[in-house]
Amino acid sequence: MTLEWGESPPKQHVVIVGAGFGGLACARKLRRSSAYRVTMIDRHPYHLFSPLLYQVATAGLPEDDIAFPVRTAFREVDFIRAEVTEIDVKTKQLTLNGKRVVDFDHLVLAVGSQGTTYGIDGVAEHTLQMKSVADSRLIRRSLLHTYEEVEDGFLPTTALQVAVVGGGPTGVELAGAIRELQDEIRREFEDIAQHASVTLIEAGPRLLPSFHPKSSAHAQKTLEKMGVTVRVDTAVSRATATSLHFTNGDELVAGTRIWAAGVVAPPTWKMLGETDRANRLKVQPTLSLTDGIWVIGDAAHHADDTGRPLPMIAPVAIQQGKHVANQLLRLARNEQLTNFVYRDKGQMATIGRRKAVVEVRRWLRFSGTFAWLTWLALHLAYISGGRNRTSIFADWVWNYLVWVPRRAITD
Ligand SMILES: Cc1cc2nc3c(=O)[nH]c(=O)nc-3n(C[C@H](O)[C@H](O)[C@H](O)COP(=O)(O)OP(=O)(O)OC[C@H]3O[C@@H](n4cnc5c(N)ncnc54)[C@H](O)[C@@H]3O)c2cc1C
Repeated sequence: MTLEWGESPPKQHVVIVGAGFGGLACARKLRRSSAYRVTMIDRHPYHLFSPLLYQVATAGLPEDDIAFPVRTAFREVDFIRAEVTEIDVKTKQLTLNGKRVVDFDHLVLAVGSQGTTYGIDGVAEHTLQMKSVADSRLIRRSLLHTYEEVEDGFLPTTALQVAVVGGGPTGVELAGAIRELQDEIRREFEDIAQHASVTLIEAGPRLLPSFHPKSSAHAQKTLEKMGVTVRVDTAVSRATATSLHFTNGDELVAGTRIWAAGVVAPPTWKMLGETDRANRLKVQPTLSLTDGIWVIGDAAHHADDTGRPLPMIAPVAIQQGKHVANQLLRLARNEQLTNFVYRDKGQMATIGRRKAVVEVRRWLRFSGTFAWLTWLALHLAYISGGRNRTSIFADWVWNYLVWVPRRAITD
């Protein structure tokens, strides 16, 4: 193509699939580039702040607080609400909802992950997962309606028993928050509240397996003090409509059964390349999969120095999103690509009000009120959108001072 004097070359089209942590970070960095036109595609019109899903599920926050409207995020980025159903690497085309075709020069696949049941009998049918706003709504409904149904005699009192499977940060946060919710609504359901309980089940030998053993022990002790029953070394073999069965032959009756035990990347994109056991696409050190295709976040398998894949957490996705944007900018300047290096800033989990564990390094750990305040501050800092941030802050202050669960609407 010949360009006229003063005419700029046409912008290349970057399509980002997924407006999650990785996709948004990539778009933010690329949006003002003179070399690229950016389109973001997501099945939802919002960016979901999943670390706070458990607070929606336990009636602490309204749904709107953790969903940030993507269309208004960046004026320079086009947004299409659609499900990407096909990717043709050769023709560099995407199919949306099985119909509309979109061409791209570069594709950034930031499609995240989904819950997995590991094929355990009955888990898909009889447990609730917590990956989306709709999932959280179902959990909240189950937790709260059960009280009314037990009170009205439609359900036995054992229905007030809650089982949470998975002793990672999500399971720990959820179990602690459910226990606090049960304590708070005790006054309103005085006759039946004593039957409510929470059991946290972990197949491995300790909670928070990615943390230092001392943090795991602290989390377990704190949860037990709050009244949560913790069962480690306990693997689920089957779920039914009223209970969980374990490989050791025990059975736990529970009206609400929540599955927070593991995630995998969506299997749909396995055909794009080599994958690991969690369906993650094995990317090159630059995060490129093939020419013009990049994979980031939970969907990418990028090994660290020890050869282990990076954890499926938001900071990895954010740093990878920025890295791919930088690589695209380098390409536009005809510069060499660079390898992705993850900067681990630590990990944290909240257990309840004024209770959390924070690990900055293996040797720099703290817990209790200061850890909880750190957790609150960092989560506020990472939430997209001033309105969401202000609203969450106001809700947190209100909840702390006058805890009244948000549950006018639970249908
Ligand atoms: C309950 C819960 C709690 C968590 N807590 C923490 C925490 O405390 N700290 C932490 O660091 N991490 C946490 N995580 C993990 C963190 O949310 C993920 O690691 C992070 O979201 C990964 O970012 P991502 O950009 O890869 O994908 P996501 O943020 O999941 O975004 C993927 C996006 O892609 C869209 N999408 C997928 N497929 C398609 C398709 N075919 N077509 C169109 N759109 C599509 C989805 O709608 C979604 O918006 C938590 C996760 C969950 C579920």
